[in-house]
Amino acid sequence: MQLNLSYKWKVDEGEIPLFRVYLGGTWYPGKESIEVKSPIDLTPLARIPRISFAEFSTYLQLMYEKGRRRIRDIPGEERIEIFSKAADILEERKDDFVEVLVKNNGKIPAAANGEVMASIERLRKTQLDVRKIYGEYVPGDWSRESLETEAVVRREPYGIVLGIIPFNYPLMDTVNKIAYSSIAGNAVVVKPPSSTPLPVLMFAQVLEEAGFPKESLSIVTLPGKEANSLVADNRISVISLTGSTETGLEVMKNAGIKQFIMELGGGDPVIVLDDADVEWAGERIATGITSYSGQRCDSIKFIFSEPGIYEELKNQIVNNLAKNKVGDPRVPGVTMGPLIDEKTAIEFENAINDAKAKGARVLYGGTRDRNYIQPTLIEADNLEQLYLYQKEVFASIAVIVKVANLDKAIELSNKRRYGLDAAIFGKDINKIRRLIRLLEVGAIYINDFPRHGIGYFPFGGRRDSGTGREGIGYTVELVTAYKSIVYNYKGRGVWEYT
Ligand code: NAP
Repeated sequence: MQLNLSYKWKVDEGEIPLFRVYLGGTWYPGKESIEVKSPIDLTPLARIPRISFAEFSTYLQLMYEKGRRRIRDIPGEERIEIFSKAADILEERKDDFVEVLVKNNGKIPAAANGEVMASIERLRKTQLDVRKIYGEYVPGDWSRESLETEAVVRREPYGIVLGIIPFNYPLMDTVNKIAYSSIAGNAVVVKPPSSTPLPVLMFAQVLEEAGFPKESLSIVTLPGKEANSLVADNRISVISLTGSTETGLEVMKNAGIKQFIMELGGGDPVIVLDDADVEWAGERIATGITSYSGQRCDSIKFIFSEPGIYEELKNQIVNNLAKNKVGDPRVPGVTMGPLIDEKTAIEFENAINDAKAKGARVLYGGTRDRNYIQPTLIEADNLEQLYLYQKEVFASIAVIVKVANLDKAIELSNKRRYGLDAAIFGKDINKIRRLIRLLEVGAIYINDFPRHGIGYFPFGGRRDSGTGREGIGYTVELVTAYKSIVYNYKGRGVWEYT
């Protein structure tokens, strides 16, 4: 498949174009390459350099010696201007980014456009991050030992943040990780996903043109399974990973003592109360199941319904799922494109067979053609035994369960390994308030499906869904370290304690 890009990107043309990587200011073609496929027809779309850690280490040293100081020495106000300029450039070249997100990610154009618009907004919202970068004054007289002393506790950048990016939101996640890290004064190494790296490489060029200091940014296209030395390197102080729980665990084991922001596996439960507006709930839940073909961490995977509205809710969800058209995302009218690869489609199929063997019933969908799947709703009475309950299947598939009472819904939500978000549809404020208190998740959405968007509201998981939070003004706290400066005035007559 061919890419039709109107702007001149750092690409070496050939039978299959080679996108160069950005290493501390150098556009490097690499010695070896990795093929990047389009999930639409699984044909080659481009190539990217395959960088080894040994090749990257010299550039990392440049970032360590120069880059981490360069970004910090740019006045904060000018850092905001760089991000604002990057937003303008991204806006000018929006069509090229939509083109790669459609062809490299298999997104429908509206979703690709949404990701670019969200990225532009995120860059502009660095204006809000900066209000959380401040220090504190701590008086010394609350302890006899520190009488006549005082401290200023300030936050300063750690140095170099490694941002590891998942395949599903390659542009937005890159923008977000660079935005909160660098607005706080850190240099950033980005490790793009091997399947969808193109928007990441293009964004590096946007930042370069916006005036981002060269030595303070690298995009290292190193396959994940070869990244152990990178994550373990002690020139890197913070790792911000968005990816699966399995990857998160491996990275934490390999990395040693570092600061971690881990946005890991999810798949969210929704609880529907008897007094919910069922038509609204059915429509929103179906959208939460099918958006980007279910390849979202905040995708709905479980619906726990009170008994009174159960049958009606089931019908509403099925009717809304049936409105979807699966196919080539470039075709007008298609609402669900392909899964990123056939491996996940096979896992989807196996999960359905596992559910059926355990007595569950397929209410809608359940079939696949290569890496294209039908949106699927399953009804189960013994949810805990299902593979779908135990492991996140990154596809458009959800299980609906009739629960006798809210305690059962709480139990089923909290017993999963994951605890990312939850949603509640209904009106009874007392029931809703109780659920808010007892659900062990990072975010709860009332009367809508979960979606993290630009992180205007902070999000992040508990249990196997991770640690730390991503959110405008919140993550800057995790990429900065406290430093206490203690001033001693003992016997200098500043204070006259009695
Ligand atoms: P993934 O397979 O875990 O990969 C994520 C990233 O980690 C990729 O860049 C991958 O590189 C890299 N990686 C893999 N093994 C590594 C290792 N040993 N050391 C360092 N890096 C390594 O996840 P994905 O399939 O791209 O994304 C889907 C997952 O992300 C789902 O589980 C989803 O729930 C989660 N997610 C979570 C959030 C959230 O906010 N909690 C948001 C979005 C997605 P390669 O591509 O080169 O293998």
